[in-house]
Amino acid sequence: MKKDASDCLSGCSVDTLLAQAGNRSDDNKSGSISTPLYFSTAFRHPGLGDSTGFDYARVTTPTRQILETELAKLENGSRAFATSSGMSAIDLVFSSLLNYGDHFITSDDLYGGTFRYFDAIKKQSNVSFDIWDGKSLETLRALITDRTKLIWIETPSNPMMKVIDIKSLVQAIKKDFPEVLVAVDNTFLTPIFQKPLLLGADIVVHSATKYLAGHNDLLAGVVITNSTDIAGIIETQLITRGQVLDSFSSWLLIRSLKTLHLRMARHNESGQYLASKLKEIAGINQVLYSGLGGMVSFYVAEDVDVNLFLRGLKIVSFAESLGGPETLVTIPTVQTHCDMPEEQRLALGITDRLIRLSVGLEDPNDLLKDLTEAIEGAKHG
Ligand SMILES: *Cc1c(COP(=O)(O)O)cnc(C)c1O
Repeated sequence: MKKDASDCLSGCSVDTLLAQAGNRSDDNKSGSISTPLYFSTAFRHPGLGDSTGFDYARVTTPTRQILETELAKLENGSRAFATSSGMSAIDLVFSSLLNYGDHFITSDDLYGGTFRYFDAIKKQSNVSFDIWDGKSLETLRALITDRTKLIWIETPSNPMMKVIDIKSLVQAIKKDFPEVLVAVDNTFLTPIFQKPLLLGADIVVHSATKYLAGHNDLLAGVVITNSTDIAGIIETQLITRGQVLDSFSSWLLIRSLKTLHLRMARHNESGQYLASKLKEIAGINQVLYSGLGGMVSFYVAEDVDVNLFLRGLKIVSFAESLGGPETLVTIPTVQTHCDMPEEQRLALGITDRLIRLSVGLEDPNDLLKDLTEAIEGAKHG
């Protein structure tokens, strides 16, 4: 009988699950320790009604299936779906769960591409949405209509690092509106620091491009749920629309997961350190940090030339992503949030002096020195 990793590892901690990801998946054939990578898009059937469980790569592949099993376990879900990008994971959720004319509610401070997506579906599918400021749960409840299908939140938020208490939100919603689904974009904290399904959410989404993959070298997304009904709808949509993750990226992502716990511990440690030290730098006015993880935002003072600051960085790169080994800075107004209307940006506090930092795996003191010197060198007069 095939012994798979879950038989051996039930009851093990997350660290063990991660380090062992994909191991024992080929014990009936090779005993390979590293996950086997199958490129085949077609799978032979012995005869009518007989199958290995695989038929065509858009439906599933052996390598993607191993990845999805690992991702589901990690988030305490029953099913996971690996997609070609974070945006395609978001699209999979909305195209699966909302119909023409439906309504949803979103928290106000989100990845800019998600807002661009919401505007697109508003035009194409006549869905409507309201924006909630992430504060009062009474205000949130008041936004629910009989057409509301879903509440979408990102916490900590991007780039303002605001925190929403998922458990309280779910309790406040589900007692009167059990049919309204709660979906959480868990990209920033990952299941190492936050497990939305255990807090009562119905769906978790990741841009796996970020921490889950963690090396700035692969684009992927994932949708995870613990509801068999939701999983069934999503599976059908995924096969229909085809935004699946390819086998090679699936293999790379399994490889990345093996160190997720170690990377997140270091991102968090350095994030905490920099969040406290950046406050002391002359030229930084305010630091925004959720208290957990590796994402930190800060405002530079009026006398700092942002362009000179970016050009003066020697270790930190000015680039648009997060969650990798290399520390990156992003200017939300011109990068991640460039399509958000200025009025909405300013209301959130996203000004052209706001800088978002993805703290990487370098020595945090080297990073601090680099940032301090770049700010010093960018001061006017
Ligand atoms: C990057 C990002 C996305 C989009 O993911 P892609 O992999 O770039 O398509 C969605 N949500 C958050 C929070 C992100 O940071």
